Amino acid sequence: MEDSGVVSGNVVCERLHSRHDGRWVLRLGEDAGPGQTGAGQQRRQLCVACVIEILEQTAVSVVRKKHALSCFCDVLTRFPSAVLELLAIDTRVCTHFIVTLLGTLQSVEDHITLDLVIEVLVSLVVELKSEQFVCCVFEECQNQLSQKNSMRRSLPVFTLLGKLLFSIPVLATKMIQEYGESGKIDKSK
Ligand SMILES: [Zn+2]
Repeated sequence: MEDSGVVSGNVVCERLHSRHDGRWVLRLGEDAGPGQTGAGQQRRQLCVACVIEILEQTAVSVVRKKHALSCFCDVLTRFPSAVLELLAIDTRVCTHFIVTLLGTLQSVEDHITLDLVIEVLVSLVVELKSEQFVCCVFEECQNQLSQKNSMRRSLPVFTLLGKLLFSIPVLATKMIQEYGESGKIDKSK
């Protein structure tokens, strides 16, 4: 096993996991869903705290980050309610996860990984249906764009914003109301 401890389909990092509370682990049967394991089915485990730390650590390779993201994305697509239930345990952890994902938009250069980060962020924001998290994403995007990064660094942020506006059309109206009123967007254009 490699030092991240990530094995196929599982995201529980042996090196990091010892300090994580067991409540952050999603246990999934191959097709049966959370907590259900049919006869002969391989059990998968995904620790959200491990996913966060794998993304945060600069020493972890992009390959492992991509693997953790792709497993999380798969679980979120197949078992959204189980993921939401887990994230609802502590909104601070959920916020930290979102901020960590947004941080990888600036720290990762691999296009496939960036696409995965954007896909996970859009799915999470859509599934969470919470204004608090939408505001958190927009504030962080605004923060990243205000740092006058290169176009290469800004592009994933614009892609994320575009996909969010496409997925949640009401956001466009809200943005125009908020930023239009503060003079940042000229409504006449
Ligand atoms: Zn863990």
